Amino acid sequence: MSKVKPIGPIPAGYVGRDGELAVSGVKARALVADHGSPLFVYSQKHLSSRIKTLRDAMPAQLHIHFAMKANPYAPVLSHMVGLVDGIDIASGGELTMAIKAGAAAKKISFAGPGKRDDELLAAIQAGVTINIESPTECDRALAIGAKEGLQPRLAVRVNPDFDLKGSGMKMGGGAKQFGMDVELVAENVHKIVAAGAHWRGFHIFAGSQALKADAIIETQAQTIALAARLAEEIGASPEHVNLGGGFGIPYFPGDTSVDVAEIGEALKSQLSVLPEILENTQFALELGRYLVGEAGVYLTTIIDRKESQGETFLVVDGGLHHQLAASGNFGTVIRRNYPAAIATQYDKRADEVVSIVGCLCTPLDLLSDRAEMPTAQVGDIVVIFCAGAYGASASPANFLGQGPAKEILLS
Ligand SMILES: *Cc1c(COP(=O)(O)O)cnc(C)c1O
Repeated sequence: MSKVKPIGPIPAGYVGRDGELAVSGVKARALVADHGSPLFVYSQKHLSSRIKTLRDAMPAQLHIHFAMKANPYAPVLSHMVGLVDGIDIASGGELTMAIKAGAAAKKISFAGPGKRDDELLAAIQAGVTINIESPTECDRALAIGAKEGLQPRLAVRVNPDFDLKGSGMKMGGGAKQFGMDVELVAENVHKIVAAGAHWRGFHIFAGSQALKADAIIETQAQTIALAARLAEEIGASPEHVNLGGGFGIPYFPGDTSVDVAEIGEALKSQLSVLPEILENTQFALELGRYLVGEAGVYLTTIIDRKESQGETFLVVDGGLHHQLAASGNFGTVIRRNYPAAIATQYDKRADEVVSIVGCLCTPLDLLSDRAEMPTAQVGDIVVIFCAGAYGASASPANFLGQGPAKEILLS
């Protein structure tokens, strides 16, 4: 078995039943028989227990927001609305979905560069908080509010002068399209207040997909210090400070889970010694993949098994059009294997090396590169784990006329 590439760690909570992977007690073959293949399967139980773990670890007064771009599937979103304190959206389309899912406007905040006037108008009319990303966006929001006779709820997104160390995706520190540079914040807050709009506070998001508690703790401390510094400069206390998030999940060999207990303890002590100007501030974390990523799997059926120059390929009916991230084409520098398994041979030992490829006409459509798996045949079902975030909605479903995968939420 030469040239083997390891797969990432299979998340906790996925067990076999009669030799098959079962999600919420339902076996893979039955899921595919009832709902089709390829199929995204999400688990309510998994979502709820993740939130509970997080709440148990974090300071009681801290709010938890869900960044819905990680998984906007309506039943998942509705379930999350019932569990979290806020929904973070990044488009007018997500605004519509969040309201339809039952999120109260007061609990919605809208970030993202390039908000169109019609999106700003819809957000102001709905009464959601807009995280303002630039001075000109600030002017546009204030102008729309004035024209409509409405009072916009505006927070200022700050481009922090630091980044989240070890994060897979940096969204602060240096020149960025997100938020305003620190030097611009005070004058824009003054502008918001002078215009009679409702200044809500700050949104400070430094990065994504970090696994090291130390780095997250350091960033949170820097974020609170920056909020205090800006509040002093402005001369007013922010009602709300969104501390960002950035908690990652293990995708690759060697990755380990974020130690939320350690982060929670550190945050408890940080929030217990706040500078006076932040004493009445409500703090929030906004998380996407950490909340939903491990609560979903992608099931796809093997439709061909072939050899080429001594290597074995399992060709499945799904692919990168549903699993762009697992194929390594969604912001990864070096392609590595997501956790995967043969769902219908779940109790068998690995005894061969195979590449699991999708059905698209491109060599990029690789779900598992030379991984050790138990022998599988046509009709067996492959499972890709960590499919609950940035799967269905972050993949090019229309590529090659394939269309989207079905999604289901199990209890
Ligand atoms: C994408 C995004 C998130 C969610 O990131 P995750 O890595 O999924 O936790 C949170 N906040 C903002 C502003 C984002 O753009």
